[in-house]
Amino acid sequence: MPRIYRSTNPYIPIPERSIFTQVFSNNYNSSLPAYIDAPTGFTLTRGDVRKLSLEFGWGLRNILGQKRGDIMAIFSPNSVQWPIALLGGIAAGMRITTVNSSYTPPELLHQLQDSGAYYVFTHPALVGNAHATLKLMKVSDAEIRKRIILVGPATLMADPKLKGLKRYDELLGNGQLQKEENFDGPLSHETVMICYSSGTTSKSKGVELTHKNINSVIAMVGPRFNTFLRPNHSDCMLSVLPFFHIYGLTKLVLVPFFLGAPQVVMSQFNPEDFCAYVQKYKITCALIVPPILVVLANHPAPENYDMRSLRILFSGAAPLGEGLTSKVGARLKKLGVDCNFPQGWGLTETSPTCIMQDTYDWINKPGTIGTLLSNVQARLVLDDETDAPEGEPGEIWIKGPNVMKGYLNNPKATRDAITPDGWFKTGDVAIVDKDNFFQIVDRKKELIKYKGFQVPPADLEAVLLTHPDVLDAGVIGVHSEVEATELPRAYVVPRGGVAAFKTVAEKDAFSHAIQSWIQTKVAKHKYLRGGVVLLDTIPKSAAGKILRKDLRELAKKEHHVS
Ligand code: AMP
Repeated sequence: MPRIYRSTNPYIPIPERSIFTQVFSNNYNSSLPAYIDAPTGFTLTRGDVRKLSLEFGWGLRNILGQKRGDIMAIFSPNSVQWPIALLGGIAAGMRITTVNSSYTPPELLHQLQDSGAYYVFTHPALVGNAHATLKLMKVSDAEIRKRIILVGPATLMADPKLKGLKRYDELLGNGQLQKEENFDGPLSHETVMICYSSGTTSKSKGVELTHKNINSVIAMVGPRFNTFLRPNHSDCMLSVLPFFHIYGLTKLVLVPFFLGAPQVVMSQFNPEDFCAYVQKYKITCALIVPPILVVLANHPAPENYDMRSLRILFSGAAPLGEGLTSKVGARLKKLGVDCNFPQGWGLTETSPTCIMQDTYDWINKPGTIGTLLSNVQARLVLDDETDAPEGEPGEIWIKGPNVMKGYLNNPKATRDAITPDGWFKTGDVAIVDKDNFFQIVDRKKELIKYKGFQVPPADLEAVLLTHPDVLDAGVIGVHSEVEATELPRAYVVPRGGVAAFKTVAEKDAFSHAIQSWIQTKVAKHKYLRGGVVLLDTIPKSAAGKILRKDLRELAKKEHHVS
């Protein structure tokens, strides 16, 4: 019998219906604010969100001719219209693929082709990339004009270059409202989100998440959030993490809306704005990634603003060190800010959250990621797929209503990730203590996380191999204490061999040239910030697999990164 860890929280029935129906099911007052544009204060109330989403959904169906099951890509930085695109698409019965807004055209191309998305909901700042991508796909200019749906601030939308492109407003047709598509009962198992993740190995894959998957996270995270959100909608949250990532999508766009907490929406993080908005909107809670805590620990900005409303900075998507929370906590305390730093753990494939700390666990159980959410079960498994002995580390396997349906059009990857009896293999290694608190101690999979963003090494290796002077390459993550993140590092075999470089300066020049070159090819989070190191051969197994463990050992010896 496998050793199964079960949640100590009571079982919660998961609603089998559309996400749209679910997030509006609380019937809160429709005049409550829902999404607030941080720079301007422009506010959409819950009533506005419902009306605009149904209007947008009507436009998708009746103006653009979309059908149930059709796929739309959202390729946009955070904005108050982002949730309308999402909820409008869902009300119309569509499936949504969310794209990292720093993707380059070849990266976007992969996602559009793989997911089968036709329409691209985008922003004036990104329309150039969307256009270039569709060009790469040999789409005609006339069709490109059809496939892009634009929304953005009036100042940017006024750009004459955008003339002729379809605008979001044009779809909010005549006050007509889309009748919400039905996903009740078994239909709730239909795919609604196609988010991208490399999983444990190889390149980005479409993760099929169903209405029920997302509803389960809304239902399971909700009670935990309620332990630190205040009653009567008196909280105000700050959205600084990207909505396109599953963490932002669920915990910023959907869960707080379901709980009735308004979100002040920032399109990107910068320390001054972050602190200024905390002061201006009396923010009580923000979801963050560890590198934001590094900034709050060291940057002068917190000294310049009254941040005393802040009570929770909730961390996720990447490892968070105990030292960092104590440092930020102490600094903020000196500024009169009494803040807690709980964290959660999960993956795109688990919609995402499985394990979460409560408000004070960061003090009472430092270094842990918390306990299992209701309805989620875990095993800790050794390489031979037997259970780790009690107290020993093992790979976390998860079973629960939040586990994805599978990887899109990739039954092999799905079979490799989910056992026939429904256990999803996460690639993270953990231990469990006697109180059922989990602690991540290692990562077994290839994935690198830069500031919470996925960097699949295989993506970078494939790009590096297209460089005329690169014979072979292997990429790993190296940890930076200073930035509280991993940094992608490439080991590269130069075409002429390392010995061909006469001096250290020549070698360095080659490494720097590769670092600069990669910046012309990939999204920012994939830049080789951990350096490029030259080798004569990349260590490989007999089957030709890169031995990343050996590269990690090399990295340990090099001490390139502090
Ligand atoms: P993603 O699919 O982008 O959400 O990435 C999921 C991966 O991020 C997990 O498998 C972990 O490796 C990492 N991760 C997420 N949350 C945490 C956490 N609290 N502590 C350590 N690693 C985390």
